[in-house]
Amino acid sequence: MIKGNGRPVYQGVAIGRIYVHTKARDVVNRKCTDIVKELERFEGARESARKELEALYDKTLNEIGEEQAGIIEVQSLFLDDLDYIEGIQDMIRQGSDAAFSVHEIGDAQASAFAALDDEYMKARATDIRDISDRLVRILTGADQGFRMDEPGIIVAEDLTPSETVALDKDKILAFVTRQGSSNSHTAILARVMNIPSLVLTDIDIDPSLNGRIIIVDGFAGNYYIDPDDATMKAMQDKKRSAGEYKASLESYRGRESVTRKGQKVSLFANIGSPDDIRYVIDGDAEGIGLLRSEFLYLGRDDFPTEDELFEAYRKVVEAMEGRKVVIRTLDIGADKKVDYFRLEPEENPALGYRGIRICLTQKDIFRTQLRAIYRASAYGRVAIMFPMIISLKEVEDIKTFCTEVVGELEAEGVRTSPVELGIMIETPAAALTSDILAQHVDFFSVGTNDLTQYTLAIDRQNEKLDGFYDAHHPALMRFLAMIAENAHKAGIWAGICGELAGDLSLTDEFLKMGYDELSVAPSRILELRKNVIESEV
Ligand code: PEP
Ligand code: MG
Repeated sequence: MIKGNGRPVYQGVAIGRIYVHTKARDVVNRKCTDIVKELERFEGARESARKELEALYDKTLNEIGEEQAGIIEVQSLFLDDLDYIEGIQDMIRQGSDAAFSVHEIGDAQASAFAALDDEYMKARATDIRDISDRLVRILTGADQGFRMDEPGIIVAEDLTPSETVALDKDKILAFVTRQGSSNSHTAILARVMNIPSLVLTDIDIDPSLNGRIIIVDGFAGNYYIDPDDATMKAMQDKKRSAGEYKASLESYRGRESVTRKGQKVSLFANIGSPDDIRYVIDGDAEGIGLLRSEFLYLGRDDFPTEDELFEAYRKVVEAMEGRKVVIRTLDIGADKKVDYFRLEPEENPALGYRGIRICLTQKDIFRTQLRAIYRASAYGRVAIMFPMIISLKEVEDIKTFCTEVVGELEAEGVRTSPVELGIMIETPAAALTSDILAQHVDFFSVGTNDLTQYTLAIDRQNEKLDGFYDAHHPALMRFLAMIAENAHKAGIWAGICGELAGDLSLTDEFLKMGYDELSVAPSRILELRKNVIESEV
């Protein structure tokens, strides 16, 4: 038996077989013996990549516009770039296999571009990485992707948001990763899916782990590979009592979330995709307080169309049958990267080009989303929320743009319903000017994950700083009190949708501050409702 540990991100016990998740990027150098054949294989991959890019160019031109299509065109030029192509061919001639050669030369040239001063040249680093990834994927057949035939437990170095969206959620019993953090998106996903998971583990990732039995104890933060009988028995008991506790919460299903003294708070759910609706229903959420739109953009090769977005939003809105759905516009950037957005490498991505900053500068992307959301509004009760706000000017620009989009739809005879417009308060700038902002929006939702990161100057992704990270820091508590007060003074409602909303030790505090809504992972709702109903506040 191998025993190890890590940081638990969701409590529970899972027992199953291991699926090792490796990345297309983890290419290893398999020496090639037939150099001529390997050069031919590379030529074949170049041709396939060219065809893929041509198709992508046409699709982008039709569905998005010339500017984005131009980017695809630039990328295809690298397939004829002598430095790049000859560099790869030389490496193959020296005995490396094609995928490894593409990976190495691609990485070296991308780093060289990234180090240049010229902004245009810097941006080419992403192009080279992207084209290299495409070639590696074709050469290694990695596009067949990671598959799970049976339910099991995923063991990985780390999973990017794009990788998690590609997974078959029905089959995942738990995640065990070497990297990650309790606030990372894999952790957030694990909580949405109610699966016990460990990040920052000491597990040795090796293909020989595939198919072996592992137990994940999300209470203690331990894992056991090839468990002995005594451990198996103890863990099965623990799993059973966790199940019993969960069953005891069922008595809170369908009840109103109101304290003994009559204070009411709405308990909403955070989700990333229409597939998560089943967790929302199962968790008994009273609405959706945060639909993270960026998940609709992850795990694809190009932008979703307006119709695709509309269908996704409509599905959620209809499933909620008149209960409120707060849709957050795209918050891409920082830790959520999508290749086709062509985001340049940045020194400080969390302080960089992300969220509303992208939407307000790339209006075609923003317009497509807003049109889709407003179209979906006709099918239920929709609110739109904008991330990473720092100023009134942004709010004014957004509102003007929304009015324009609604006008367009009306002129086309498209049906819409009234939509509340709110903002996330997740920067200190927004928190400190919340009295002003409150006069211009319909609601606030506090993003404590980012508000904590920016208030404490602690990167939420950096596990080395966990010892300094204080989710209950007085500065944050002051901000939270101030935000609710300013919202109420202006007559608007305020909620919290960051992870802190589900921190049961703070429920009383949030009630005292007067928060009207708490939006948490769907699996947290019943326990949170128990806390509210039993609260003395
Ligand atoms: C937050 O920052 O608290 C939040 C809810 O948004 P995200 O975690 O998606 O950045
Ligand atoms: Mg945020």
